[in-house]
Amino acid sequence: MSSLGDLASIGVESLSSVSASRADRLAEMGIETVLDLVTHYPRRYVDRTNQASIDGLVEGQEATVLATVRRVSTRPTRGRRAMVEVDLFDGRGYLHLVFFNQPWRAKQLREGAEVVVWGRVERYRGRRQMTNPLVDSVGDQTGRIVAVYPQSEKAGLASWQIADNVEEALGRYCAGLTDPLPAAIRERERLAERAWSLRATHRPETEADYHAGRRRLGFDELLRLQLVLVMRKRATERHARGIRHSSAGHLVDRFLTGLPFPLTTAQRRAIEEIRADLAGPCPMHRLLQGDVGSGKTLVALVAMLIGVEGGHQAALMAPTEVLAEQHRANLAALVAGLELDGRRDGLLGRREVSVGLLTNRTTAAARKRLQAALAAGTVDILVGTHALLSETVDFADLGVVVIDEQHRFGVEQRAVLRDKGAGGLVPDVLVMTATPIPRTAAMTVFGDLDTTVLDEMPPGRTPVTTSWARGELEEAAAWERVRAEVAAGHQAYVVCPLVEGSEKVVARSATAEHQRLSEGELAGLRVGLLHGQLAASEKDAVMEAYRLGQLDVLVATTVVEVGVDVANATVMVIEDAGRFGMAQLHQLRGRVGRGAERSWCFLLGEGSGEDGPRRLQALVDSSDGFELAEIDLDLRGEGTILGTRQKGVSDLKLASLRRHKKTVALARRVAFELVDEDATLSSHPELAEELRLLVDPEEREYLFKS
Ligand code: ADP
Ligand code: MG
Repeated sequence: MSSLGDLASIGVESLSSVSASRADRLAEMGIETVLDLVTHYPRRYVDRTNQASIDGLVEGQEATVLATVRRVSTRPTRGRRAMVEVDLFDGRGYLHLVFFNQPWRAKQLREGAEVVVWGRVERYRGRRQMTNPLVDSVGDQTGRIVAVYPQSEKAGLASWQIADNVEEALGRYCAGLTDPLPAAIRERERLAERAWSLRATHRPETEADYHAGRRRLGFDELLRLQLVLVMRKRATERHARGIRHSSAGHLVDRFLTGLPFPLTTAQRRAIEEIRADLAGPCPMHRLLQGDVGSGKTLVALVAMLIGVEGGHQAALMAPTEVLAEQHRANLAALVAGLELDGRRDGLLGRREVSVGLLTNRTTAAARKRLQAALAAGTVDILVGTHALLSETVDFADLGVVVIDEQHRFGVEQRAVLRDKGAGGLVPDVLVMTATPIPRTAAMTVFGDLDTTVLDEMPPGRTPVTTSWARGELEEAAAWERVRAEVAAGHQAYVVCPLVEGSEKVVARSATAEHQRLSEGELAGLRVGLLHGQLAASEKDAVMEAYRLGQLDVLVATTVVEVGVDVANATVMVIEDAGRFGMAQLHQLRGRVGRGAERSWCFLLGEGSGEDGPRRLQALVDSSDGFELAEIDLDLRGEGTILGTRQKGVSDLKLASLRRHKKTVALARRVAFELVDEDATLSSHPELAEELRLLVDPEEREYLFKS
């Protein structure tokens, strides 16, 4: 019997089919152990009985052909480029292949070898031909289904060579592989057995074989990931002592009474969930999701005020300086005039809730003052960037932490803030996303958190009419709409094209765009400029002027993405919209439609990239952030959404958060089932062993400590 850990401890050179030079080449592909080798899964499968035969190929169409190499020859062309010609035969007909500038093909394609080629069928001098097709050498695999491996041209390894090595590894080491998943769960969820699955994935006899095999192995990848997340969640609940926030709720009541609107039902529900978390003995660890404009900031502020009322401090961390500054301004405006009962500085009686700001731009002197105030407990809410994580930031009594992010902070950074609590108590943490993320992604990136969803928008909003303005006429209509809205007393935003480069480069380009528009499309209007390089006071002045209606149009970089809140703004023009991500466009668009007036958003330019047009069209078609998030995941794949920060995501070789949504949910359910039955998996030692391979030693101890 052997485990995955055993396979990981055997080097590939122990296989007789792996020579020293083969071992080097495999290493170049990142394959060093038998485990690496048997988890190097086929890229696709070719079914011999289901292939186009050469004599049936249709000229002008693309086709996959499985055939044997009959003849290979190389000759130079006039331009002294090597030309390799190959004849393939499949028992029914001949196909001629021509490769230009790929001299190594002559070595790759040996006579007698079996290959799978993919390309467009041409006819040249009466022969069927493909020029520079994609080729996988599959060797002389027997069986109906041929597995095609990702081969590495760089390392000079063909699919059939990898197949040979895999074959030996399976036979020698994998037949007795143990299955750590309880049989009862396996049967209930119709998951195949592990050793069988490994063979079925590499050497399937039928299509059903590899489907079942891959499903099981993909499930295992997701289960390992979920087990770590669920164990992390449960370990925190078990080990960390939280603050039992007690507050009579007067401060929050006064704050809410002072608001010009009632809370939505969703906000009230979210606040009750958070209040219960805060009052409880375990530290809160909760994700707050909601569409743009659903009122997340308010919920987060209430969480912080509950902490503040109980005599604790709160921190809000944002991913950029601009966002941090905007949050500070927002929060300061919301709590303006809100008085604390004078319990801490009793002599002075009452004072207002105070909001501080700490970023890398904070001057040394201001920082010093801030640190003193923090230690004295006279700063109630500290807003900032990564700067908050610094060791020198020392709170008197940190009780509530809010992290506003778009997957930009990792688990480690959350942990640093949680360590800033006083007296060994862990502060309560609320994580907010700027726009919704897909459910499967949330389960994975934030799988160690509880989740609250704000699924309701404040009343009185009118959906934004979004159009994709392609071509001069439609763009002219967009600018026409801007002028018409300004004439009607409303305001507009223009978002500058996204440029790569430093903040300085971005600012320069925005400045140029501001000038161009002021002299062109927006001539005669009062046009302001906002970008991240302006001094804080200039930024405030521009925003204030815009808020007061002294500016008609604000030309801005993505700094308007979050926090800007002017209900009189009814049009947004986003230039070169195809270069922005979908979530970002949706977030930007959320800056209009904040009042009762009808609003517009114009996306300018062609959608760049392969799926640019589909992304823009999706925004036109839907104003639902949750729906857009799913489409975004479908279009872009998980890599871009998850980033590489999340441990274990790079181990997802077969599983996809996008294509296997049900399996993701299943893995999560099973993870809870296993952990809640047995928190440290002591009755599933093999499973526990596999997880130990995945996590850092430090976390290992924490997770498995009962
Ligand atoms: P999010 O952060 O979720 O995108 P915000 O917190 O910025 O949304 O809220 C958007 C706007 O809606 C803000 O102007 C906020 O003051 C306002 N708002 C929040 N809650 C309500 C409510 N219950 N009724 C009306 N307006 C609200
Ligand atoms: Mg608590």
